[in-house]
Amino acid sequence: MKFQVPRGTFDVMPEEAARWQALEARARAVSTASGYREIRTPIFEATELFLRGVGETTDIVSKEMYTFADRKGRSLTLRPEGTAGVMRALVEHGVAQAGRIHRVWYTGPMFRYDRPQAGRYRQFHQWGAECVGSAHPAADIEIILLLVDFLASLGLAGTTVQLNSVGHSGCRPAYQEVLRAYLAPHVDSLCADCRVRFEKNPLRVLDCKVPHDREIAAGIPSILDSLCAECREHFDAVQAGLTLHDVQFTLDPRLVRGLDYYTRTAFEVHDPSRGAQSAMGGGGRYDGLIADVGGPSVPGVGFSAGLERILMALEERSLTPGADAPLVYVARAGDAAVEAVAQQLVRELRREGAAAAGTAYAVIADLEPGRGLGAQFKQADKAGATLAVVVGADELAADAVTVKDLKTGTQEKIARAQLAMHLAARLAGAPAPNPTENAR
Ligand code: AMP
Repeated sequence: MKFQVPRGTFDVMPEEAARWQALEARARAVSTASGYREIRTPIFEATELFLRGVGETTDIVSKEMYTFADRKGRSLTLRPEGTAGVMRALVEHGVAQAGRIHRVWYTGPMFRYDRPQAGRYRQFHQWGAECVGSAHPAADIEIILLLVDFLASLGLAGTTVQLNSVGHSGCRPAYQEVLRAYLAPHVDSLCADCRVRFEKNPLRVLDCKVPHDREIAAGIPSILDSLCAECREHFDAVQAGLTLHDVQFTLDPRLVRGLDYYTRTAFEVHDPSRGAQSAMGGGGRYDGLIADVGGPSVPGVGFSAGLERILMALEERSLTPGADAPLVYVARAGDAAVEAVAQQLVRELRREGAAAAGTAYAVIADLEPGRGLGAQFKQADKAGATLAVVVGADELAADAVTVKDLKTGTQEKIARAQLAMHLAARLAGAPAPNPTENAR
């Protein structure tokens, strides 16, 4: 029997892992630089958390969750998004309190039973950040800048921010009535889901993907005309902040996003050069969410970004966020004493190569002792090594090694004490290994 990855999932093979690591490292660096600290929460949570947090009328909850009963019959769900679990954790640990600011970030897999297509998976990966505890528009601006600056730091120029305000519990009911009045004559022609949404949560009709419903939604009065004075003032301040920071944005009064918890600010960042799946990430303010999941009334704002989409956009622009460390091959020829020194050398060089902030070089050697130098060099070539470090009886006697450039064949003797520095200097900026077969 042959097995395949489940539909909508994929393997990250070693050739691609360096790009993922580099992207995740960049996300970590950018988050840390803005004072955000990492939080790790379980991959599954009580189903009820998402029903309350994300909202029962959303596509995510009504159609896309991986929900199962555990052996004791508890209903659990693989997290379809990160924010609800993070808020649960902040409440559970008693740290979500009025007047205290928490800046946290997370990354990891999310699960949605979506129709797989380019840029849309059933297991995908997000990096997200949450600023909890402030209702001030400065927090919204900080969060939008974090995502925008992350994309810019990767070299993804030309992304656009779409911005909206969805009001708050004070002024949204009035807009829901405007929506109902507009939609009432069309109700019978809406899709089955939207007929339910019309009753329960008409704002969700704006998020419907069915073409006919989108046509109807196109004429819906703008939510921006229904904002109360406070929401309007908040929205104006967010726009002023983005303008101050030279962030280009366009207003999109139909942007409600696929989660119910948003209040006031909602935004998405798009890569206009991509067609259907152009959203790199999005988020917004969620002033009611923490109370909805059983916590105190504490406001928050956050975003999440799709790492697969970002990697695809980078690939289209031939931008590589990271590469494997260049490879050093330790070859040896000699008696048991040479063999012992060579084996120790491999371990020492691995330690030294990994001591730098990023791994300066990777070190391998033939696992089986006793093969001729020619066979070892051939193995080094296949693995894509740049340099070989050769240990023999002469080298042993001189406490040195011979460093051979595997491209040009040139050799030089280097004192053992100088070796790590020599390798790091020679390999700085050297290309990643390009193995001719899976020789590692
Ligand atoms: P959301 O959690 O729905 O606000 O989505 C945030 C970002 O995650 C989107 O802008 C996408 O970049 C990414 N994303 C959402 N759903 C998927 C999916 N099924 N496959 C890949 N990326 C996704």
